[in-house]
Amino acid sequence: MALASKMESKVAAVEAVTAGAVAQRLKPQALLVSREAKSEDTVVHAGAVSVGGGSFTVIAGPCSVENAEQMLCTAQWAKRYGAAILRGGAYKPRTSPYSFQGLGQEGLELLAQARRLTGLPVVTEVMDTSDIELVAQYADVIQVGARNVQNFSLLRKLGQVRRPILMKRGLMTTIKEFLMAAEYILAGGNDQVILCERGIRTFETATRNTLDLSAVCVLKEMTHLPVVVDPSHAVGNRRYVKPLARASLAVGADGIMVEMHCTPEKALCDGDQSLTPKEFSAMMEELKAMTALRQGWLAC
Ligand code: PEP
Ligand code: MN
Repeated sequence: MALASKMESKVAAVEAVTAGAVAQRLKPQALLVSREAKSEDTVVHAGAVSVGGGSFTVIAGPCSVENAEQMLCTAQWAKRYGAAILRGGAYKPRTSPYSFQGLGQEGLELLAQARRLTGLPVVTEVMDTSDIELVAQYADVIQVGARNVQNFSLLRKLGQVRRPILMKRGLMTTIKEFLMAAEYILAGGNDQVILCERGIRTFETATRNTLDLSAVCVLKEMTHLPVVVDPSHAVGNRRYVKPLARASLAVGADGIMVEMHCTPEKALCDGDQSLTPKEFSAMMEELKAMTALRQGWLAC
């Protein structure tokens, strides 16, 4: 080989090695939430209940814990009709500072009472880093609300908590931003995260938000974390909750979270979207029939 062409092939080889090394350095690490980092589904353990990995989990309860009678009545019907996890907010993110803000610690005590009565694990929201320790003492699952999904100091702290987290998608959060928010919690050492699609803000005003069911498909493809749907906050009207619960199951969600209240007309928060126990029971019957059908489907 002529000297010139020998030199050329050496240069080419060096360039290839260098480019490879640079590419290696620049290649982003697979995100912890991604299927590249972990291909099999994560199963989240909420008390004795497993979320993800093929089951369909129903979380139900009032928007807010209001008093003992309301919470215990709703909890008993939720249990009777087959809910696996109880919900109820003690710290409420309200648009108006004059609206009911939740009972705080008293609400947490009532949730603990409802858990004793029904045996169901409870999920409740934390809004402030200073309340995490207290909420973790009562909750089986800690909820991050839609408005706090990019509260990074809250997320960092929740990464260090030994409690599963149910994280709502924000009203204006893209799927990528939602996943990056979950990444904060996993990066902190807590891989027990459930993602919750709860509707996003669009130009449409006929419903409270617009339920993005395609997000379930995209998320299930991109991440190993369980994905549940909250049709109640998505539509804001109890009439549409049941059909969208069915759609959530059909699209391959790992469960739903719905609001329910013994006397929705008296609810201090979100009464219009809360199912009565009777409506909840009808929804559960339909979901049960559909779950049997779903066994053979491939999700999304
Ligand atoms: C809730 O689930 O109680 C709630 C406030 O929902 P979001 O954060 O999705 O509005
Ligand atoms: Mn609500």
